[in-house]
Amino acid sequence: MDRLKNGGMIRLSKSCLGELEKQYVLDVLDHEFLGMGAEVQKFEGALNKFFGRPVVCVSSGTAALHLALQGLGLGEGDEVLVQSLTYVATFQAITACGARPIACEVNQQTLCIDLEDAKRKFTPNTKVIMPVHYAGGLGNLDEIYEFASEVGIRVVEDAAHAFGTLNGVQRVGGFGDVACFSFDGIKNITAGEGGCIVTDDIQLLNKIKDSRLLGVQNDTLSRFKGERSWVPEVVEQGWRYHMSNVMAAIGLAQLEKFEQFSKKRRLLAKRYEKNLKNHQSIKTLKLDYDQVVPHIFVVRNVSSLSRDRIVNSLNEKGIQTGHHYFPNHRLKYFRQSFSGTLEVTDNIYEQLITLPLHPDLSIEEIDYITECLLLEIQ
Ligand SMILES: *Cc1c(COP(=O)(O)O)cnc(C)c1O
Repeated sequence: MDRLKNGGMIRLSKSCLGELEKQYVLDVLDHEFLGMGAEVQKFEGALNKFFGRPVVCVSSGTAALHLALQGLGLGEGDEVLVQSLTYVATFQAITACGARPIACEVNQQTLCIDLEDAKRKFTPNTKVIMPVHYAGGLGNLDEIYEFASEVGIRVVEDAAHAFGTLNGVQRVGGFGDVACFSFDGIKNITAGEGGCIVTDDIQLLNKIKDSRLLGVQNDTLSRFKGERSWVPEVVEQGWRYHMSNVMAAIGLAQLEKFEQFSKKRRLLAKRYEKNLKNHQSIKTLKLDYDQVVPHIFVVRNVSSLSRDRIVNSLNEKGIQTGHHYFPNHRLKYFRQSFSGTLEVTDNIYEQLITLPLHPDLSIEEIDYITECLLLEIQ
């Protein structure tokens, strides 16, 4: 495995780009129209086809979550049920609207929201439940939808990890209430940065089309024609959250490669599963890789060794690792409004190790990683 050591670290995650992305970006540069225009419209059209539902593109996954929540009218006094074990973006999108994130536990096997805990934390102020599709898995999403419809709240899926994941025969985003995706550099497909909202709620989509362009009414239509709204009307708070043509160009190329990326991610995850199966002290997540397109590969260290020791040893052998994620309820900004404890989350966080996963890895590299991991644990 000298090749691996000579080549530097095996990266935890990375963008996988080629000639197609370069070509599409150069075409946009040649046109000298870099803002939101025809390319974004084209990317939205391609995504619409992919999901089978209307799509609005924005500048990031965080912006997608923020605008979806704002568009649903979330504000002061409203509560959102969300797992603590997620990227800071999920929590910030909620507080950006003035609403309150209600930190919930996760299921140990999927690291998706623990619905029973969420039900206990439901109050008359609860307006939204935000399931995070951790690593690309959906947990018990069907039951979450049942619960939401019983109590009359909206579902905003943080599907940043789950681009391409299936629920039976349907793609995430192709069903349900509102799904938000991220196209940041390391997600299943990238647009450099970027994100999108997918929903059948046309009223919500129209609101978001305005709020991504500083709240200027119908500016999206002008921009797609290469024009501007010189006499604008603004009726509510908006943000400069639109996607640019340069980003859309990268996204269009990546979308063409999605099948190839998805196949590779699944192949590598299945290899991890095979290599780590039957090991008592390393637990993998309960995910079906014929359905899930995995964004990250996370294991739980339940050996007597500390996580730091294992991680240091992997790092020394040229393998980058990660921890997804530090629980949000322990961060200063969110801690203020949090009371109680999340024992499952706190315990699990100490066990989590994220191993490298991206389409440019080889089976040999996965074997090398698991070999190093198991050698340390023995
Ligand atoms: C990446 C990510 C986001 C936010 O997406 P950005 O495009 O980085 O703003 C939100 N939630 C989760 C779980 C993510 O991994």
